[in-house]
Amino acid sequence: MATETVPRARPGETVLLSECYASIQGESSFVGTPTIFVRLYTCNLRCAWCDSMYAVEGGEFREVTVDDLVSRILGLATGGAPGPRSGIRNVCWTGGEPLLQWRSIARAIRGLPAGLVHTFETDGEVDLGPFDAELAGQRRAGLVRYIMDVKCPGSGMTARKAFENLRLLRREDEVKFVLADRRDYEFAKGVLAGHGIPADTVLFSPVTPAHKVARGLDPATLASWILEDRLNVRLQPQIHKYIWPGKDRGI
Ligand code: SF4
Repeated sequence: MATETVPRARPGETVLLSECYASIQGESSFVGTPTIFVRLYTCNLRCAWCDSMYAVEGGEFREVTVDDLVSRILGLATGGAPGPRSGIRNVCWTGGEPLLQWRSIARAIRGLPAGLVHTFETDGEVDLGPFDAELAGQRRAGLVRYIMDVKCPGSGMTARKAFENLRLLRREDEVKFVLADRRDYEFAKGVLAGHGIPADTVLFSPVTPAHKVARGLDPATLASWILEDRLNVRLQPQIHKYIWPGKDRGI
């Protein structure tokens, strides 16, 4: 683990913000939909294939107030000519690990229009319980959803808390396995066989080259494994990397 000293945000008052922008969601069952991304700084893990290390270490962040963040999200959600199909309805909280700053996020969500759908790309190793309890009504209404990783061995991390967090998931949440090789695939199959997964959608996402990983997993190879085993999962390449090849920020 790195030993970088990171200033702490004031819980409920500020966030450490890496970037905030509008783009097309490249993953999950929201794939293809215009989405506002809120990328928060720093993470409790250090995955070998992390494709957003600039939001994990290196000090590239600004501390902003929750009120300023809410204004920024509102500004990004509108824009253009108003009409029945205009406006962005989805907000993706990502990072880094966004839920390290859950108190400020909860306040931001309360300050935003009630109809927005908030998804959380969370690494699985932060206890979902306190945030769940804080936004219980929004969770029940399907307006706060988790896309939760279970870390496979190829990440260099070890899934522990993820197995407790699985029990807190709802049908509309999603579980994601990022797979570097056949060993990761077998690990993911074992998790599916050995644990109740309340979420309807399970994502198998092939690793793409990033950080300490020079070669990814060929999506066609992963597809053949899934079909051979007749697994009821969704193969999930990251389509933003096809739309904007070579770009790593603001996508
Ligand atoms: S959990 Fe996500 S942000 Fe954190 S190191 Fe792993 S891939 Fe990067």
